[in-house]
Amino acid sequence: MSSSYPDDKRVFFFDIDNCLYPKTSGIPHLMKARIEQYFRDSGIPHTDVERLAHRYYVDYGLAIRGLIEKHPVVDSNETFEAKAQCAHSLFRSFRFLHMHVSTEVDIRDYDNKVDGGLPLEKLLTPNPELRAMIESMRVGKKWLFTNAGENHAHRVVRILGLEGLFHGMTYCDYLEPQFVCKPDRKSFTKAMREAGVQDQDPSLCFFADDSRPNVDMAVKIGWTAVHVKDKFKDPSAAGQYRLNLWSIFRLFCHSFGDEDTNAFV
Ligand SMILES: [Mg+2]
Repeated sequence: MSSSYPDDKRVFFFDIDNCLYPKTSGIPHLMKARIEQYFRDSGIPHTDVERLAHRYYVDYGLAIRGLIEKHPVVDSNETFEAKAQCAHSLFRSFRFLHMHVSTEVDIRDYDNKVDGGLPLEKLLTPNPELRAMIESMRVGKKWLFTNAGENHAHRVVRILGLEGLFHGMTYCDYLEPQFVCKPDRKSFTKAMREAGVQDQDPSLCFFADDSRPNVDMAVKIGWTAVHVKDKFKDPSAAGQYRLNLWSIFRLFCHSFGDEDTNAFV
């Protein structure tokens, strides 16, 4: 565990994917392809897969969340005939999405095929510089806050060489029938509860994430949040929320030293 400051009640929440490593890693592209393949295998018409996967990501924070909300059961242990029936059923449900069909998908199967199958060891390497930066942050708690499942999150943190730096993690428990994910306000409440934020006081919470909707919700509920980007098309836009991770660390370290926590929002 990195240095601890028990009198400091502030918690820094870190997103993981595309935040602790850059989008140029190739992982987002591979993940998108796997999600779309899963949609196709689930019987979603090929011509609608890309649009629906993106729509669900935008509307629900995760494509799988939309699949759960909108489509009937897919069980990997079912017979071919049952799967064929299920595919037919999926097609029918797709045609009548406005009816808001709401059942379950086989989430273990999804997790294994989409996140579990990613060749992360070939795409990511340990990042000692990042480790040193996080270690140097003077804040009461450092907490991971991700929409990924537990296995994927731990795997990324291990490969990046960041194990032992964080006091805990709030992740998406896909096995929970009604799991919540960012940017749902409930997921931020869950993160504060799990991280033990005193009195659930949002002014104690700091957050870095590459997703704009997630950052917007964090700011809306009173957190201090920054939008992590690999690059900026307009350098002048980097002044407020659009910062890269290194800038954030410099700002936070300086800010915490000065006891001026709102200097960068
Ligand atoms: Mg992310």
